[in-house]
Amino acid sequence: MSRHLTLGPGREFDAVRDLLARWGTAATGVGDDAAVLDVPTGSRLVVSTDSSVEEVHFRAEWLTPEEIGWRATMAALSDLAAMGATPLGVLLALTVPVRWRGSLGAVAEGVGAAVRAQGAAIVGGDVTDGDRLALTITVLGHAPQPLSRAGARAGDTLYLTGALGGPGAALAAWMSGGVPNAAARARFAHPEARIAAGQWLAGHGATAAIDLSDGLSGDVAHLAHASGMRCTIALDAVPCVAGVSALEALVSGEEYELLVAAPSLDVNAFSAAHGGLALTAIGQVQAPAFGRGAEVVGEQGGVRVELPRAHDHFASVR
Ligand SMILES: [Mg+2]
Repeated sequence: MSRHLTLGPGREFDAVRDLLARWGTAATGVGDDAAVLDVPTGSRLVVSTDSSVEEVHFRAEWLTPEEIGWRATMAALSDLAAMGATPLGVLLALTVPVRWRGSLGAVAEGVGAAVRAQGAAIVGGDVTDGDRLALTITVLGHAPQPLSRAGARAGDTLYLTGALGGPGAALAAWMSGGVPNAAARARFAHPEARIAAGQWLAGHGATAAIDLSDGLSGDVAHLAHASGMRCTIALDAVPCVAGVSALEALVSGEEYELLVAAPSLDVNAFSAAHGGLALTAIGQVQAPAFGRGAEVVGEQGGVRVELPRAHDHFASVR
């Protein structure tokens, strides 16, 4: 029995047939008007959508077509990681200009590889013509108790997965006409959604989480304001990749690492369970000071420092 319904004739459906052939077992149940998915009893449906647009989120000359597909898919799945959710399905809406038609298969290979790497499945999508390559990826997941940004409590510690600064360093090199080093480029081109990490953290007492898409400086502010708390970041504790300062790491976006609040976590047990991925305590959650609202405070060598401004979503890479 076919895992997909048989598609009708036409060039658009020929393109879809080609995508399905490439995806193999990474796609399932495609071809009806809508996908039908089972959510495990006792779990909640967790849904997010994310767009990756040529000349806004990436430039064609920076990445291979496979990397464009991988990166867009991992960026979308990262939001499920931040909720502590398990992926159920992925919906892919592609805008494909004529000049990209020959590379569509390679973009799709990257999407399929990322979906497979996270144990998800492509369950539907849409292909349309347009001026720029764009991937809009909707991810569906489930979790018994999804993590929110809003749950951090006074007395919690802030923990961060991985080390920051790679994507920012890659972007800085490209924007100044240079070439990033291989490690920085890999962090930009081949991010990993921290799906397993998110589930572990949710199961070990995390009270709040967010994935780092804007950069730590901006994303910790989202968590602080959603939770109505004061968050202090110890800049000297923030793990940075080689050659990157803490201040540069704070504004490095599209990291897709997780920032979580929790009363206490066993960082060694976390690392052992995730192939050596670091989990580092980088700050504290407190009730807001009298007369003040939620805020984020930086601290370095016992001295309060201003955190750099967050990434602006409307600042294009052009
Ligand atoms: Mg997010």
